[in-house]
Amino acid sequence: MASSNSHRNGGVGYTSSITSNGTKVITDRQQQQQLFSSLNSINPKSSTTSSLKPKSSLRRSSTGSIAGSATAKDESRGVRGRVRVAVRLRPRNAEEAVADADMPDCVELQPELKRLKLRRNNWDSDTFEFDEVLTEFASQKRVYEVVAKPVVEGVLDGYNGTVMAYGQTGTGKTYTLARLGEEDKSARGIMVRALEDILAEISPETDSVSISYLQVNVKRSIKGKDSALSVENGNASHAAKILKPPIVRRGKLVIVDLAGSERIDKSGSEGHTLEEAKSINLSLSALGKCINALAENSPHVPVRDSKLTRLLRDSFGGTARTSLIVTIGPSPQHRGETASTIMFGQRAMKVENMLKIKEEFDYKSLSRRLDIQLDKLIAENERQQKTFQDEIQRIASEAQKRIAEVESNYAGALESTEINEFKKLLQNETLLRRAAEEEISSLRNEVAQWKRLEAAKSSEILKLRKLLEDESQEKAKLEEEIAALQSQLLQLSFEADETRRNLDKGEMAKLSGDLDSLLPQSNHQSSRDFGDGASMAKLFEQVGLQKILSLLEADDADVRIHAVKVVANLAAEESNQERIVEAGGLTSLLMLLRSSDDETIQRVAAGAIANLAMSETNQELIVSQGGLELLSTTAANANDPQTLRMVAGAIANLCGNDKLQMKLRGEGGIKALLGMVRCRHPDVLAQVARGIANFAKCESRAFTQGTKMGRSLLIEDGALPWIVQNANNEASPIRRHIELALCHLAQHEVNAKDMITARALWELVRISRDCSRDDIRNLAYKTLTHSPAFQAELRRLRIDYG
Ligand code: ADP
Ligand code: MG
Repeated sequence: MASSNSHRNGGVGYTSSITSNGTKVITDRQQQQQLFSSLNSINPKSSTTSSLKPKSSLRRSSTGSIAGSATAKDESRGVRGRVRVAVRLRPRNAEEAVADADMPDCVELQPELKRLKLRRNNWDSDTFEFDEVLTEFASQKRVYEVVAKPVVEGVLDGYNGTVMAYGQTGTGKTYTLARLGEEDKSARGIMVRALEDILAEISPETDSVSISYLQVNVKRSIKGKDSALSVENGNASHAAKILKPPIVRRGKLVIVDLAGSERIDKSGSEGHTLEEAKSINLSLSALGKCINALAENSPHVPVRDSKLTRLLRDSFGGTARTSLIVTIGPSPQHRGETASTIMFGQRAMKVENMLKIKEEFDYKSLSRRLDIQLDKLIAENERQQKTFQDEIQRIASEAQKRIAEVESNYAGALESTEINEFKKLLQNETLLRRAAEEEISSLRNEVAQWKRLEAAKSSEILKLRKLLEDESQEKAKLEEEIAALQSQLLQLSFEADETRRNLDKGEMAKLSGDLDSLLPQSNHQSSRDFGDGASMAKLFEQVGLQKILSLLEADDADVRIHAVKVVANLAAEESNQERIVEAGGLTSLLMLLRSSDDETIQRVAAGAIANLAMSETNQELIVSQGGLELLSTTAANANDPQTLRMVAGAIANLCGNDKLQMKLRGEGGIKALLGMVRCRHPDVLAQVARGIANFAKCESRAFTQGTKMGRSLLIEDGALPWIVQNANNEASPIRRHIELALCHLAQHEVNAKDMITARALWELVRISRDCSRDDIRNLAYKTLTHSPAFQAELRRLRIDYG
């Protein structure tokens, strides 16, 4: 212990705290006297009087201590606590026993009255009252218990505490405070006992003790209930309580062994310097002044005057619980010092302290505590979870056991009373099931019957459908038959007409102009192919022209054929032609010719067109509607001689029109005509020859009128060789038309050269000599004789002509 070290090393016997501050034994006598005089200024009587008045105080220590304790409710605010002062008398030592053998002690103690009598002389004494009067026989234990123990208890409760010894050197201050009692335990002083009590009281986990050389500090944690701070938060919740930091109380115990208060000569100045002594005396003097000021309630307490007073600031006039033990010796030789010591004690008894608990929150400790709590909770939680799972497992296995039990019980139960009930139920169910089955079978029968009926019905429907189909087929057949009959009727009427016509065949053609009159045969195609006008007129009335024309576009090919025959027949009559063209018959015929591949339709349509082409108006209409091209195409494609005859006839009719000369050549009419000679049928050739003759006639007329210049278009298109070749054809119609054509060509000098080259001259000569028809023969002769070119050629050839 630091204090014990100090005690041994310091060698002056004063407590560590003081000596460590450099306070030494007082050696300056003058200074010491000053201190003593200041202390002695206390009136002993008045002090005695005041001291005699008992002060109320609570004593906790069982032995009855000198230090008062505060009531619990006043702890936080502080309570008044006077400095408690005990006086202890040292027994006479060996020296004194010898020296003062004959003299009585300077003091007489009355411990039961807590009084001390200080002798003035043999007959007079002053009486002083203290808080405790300890005789020379008082044990160290008792001294500790009455002087220090209440202070130590206060420190453990959080109050600051001071135990201070004051007295002349050698009076037992160190003996009282600092004896270690290593050999004799009962000799232990206050310091050791205080520490023992403190260490016994605290718990190492929560409390701590620190010791400094100057100041023996105790820090204690306390239970919330006991805390003055916790009282303020009395209604706090549980959580708040947990989170509330613990409260610590810091009590500071100061044990002070003051330097001697004796005169310097008596202290025996054991090698200490004067300066040190001065310093000690200054400190003691300052302490005395402070005590005086405090005792007299002076407004100014000079605590700053010395280190000692500063150190003891809390001990006197502060918040500490303070016990002062004043030690005195019995020797009458030191009566003066003893008196001043007693006076000091008396003054100190008047000093009031305001005791206060040093309490504060300990957050570090709270954190530690919470950590521990958290660990505990986690462990508890884990434990509970395990318990819970075990419980679940237990319940599950229990349940399974119960289920097995119930199942076996149930099996047993079935065998017993319940079985009859179940049997009854079963019988009922069986009956019900049977009834249901019967019902199902009857329903099934019904369904089967319905199905049969349905089947019968559907077969009936099928039959009816078949009948309907048959009927509709029959109807279609009948309709076809009607159509066939209708067309047959038409056919029959044509044939009848034709027969009649053939019978009445007579002169029908009427040649126009000089050359036309030479033709013995009509260019009317109708007379041979189709019926007469009267029967046609009748048909007209019966059927109607529009109806007949519409039949040209009928779907049925037969109907179309018959219709076109009827139209052709009608067109053969000049009186019908205008009406047919007006009704659109010509257009329809051209369309039919264009669209149909049927040989008969082509033939009959071409015939009808040929008949309609007899009138000049219709010729132009035919050409303007593209008829010339259409006829040329047909001429190129057709093989049937009768078709070719009709086409050639139509073109031949167009060749008789003066206005169409250029178009006939331009649109290939002449070429088509010449192309048809591939078919050597005389009827075709006759029509070709007629067309050439017609064309040559028109050309000749144009030459005469001066509207045509240059050689013949027939020659241009290469007609001349065929003309020359067939000029003497044995079929008279051909021969006649060609002879006429030659005559027309020969009338114009421009053709002469070509005609000579093509040996047409010889044919003209033959015609002029041999032609059976006088008019043609004369025309040829006239032409030959009028042509200079022919005449020149004849002369060149030395032919005598003329
Ligand atoms: P101080 O510290 O006041 O100078 P000490 O404590 O050193 O005095 O005591 C001086 C001497 O007196 C020591 O030898 C000590 O043992 C003795 N003494 C003091 N008080 C008593 C006592 N009450 N009983 C017996 N001896 C004592
Ligand atoms: Mg000492």
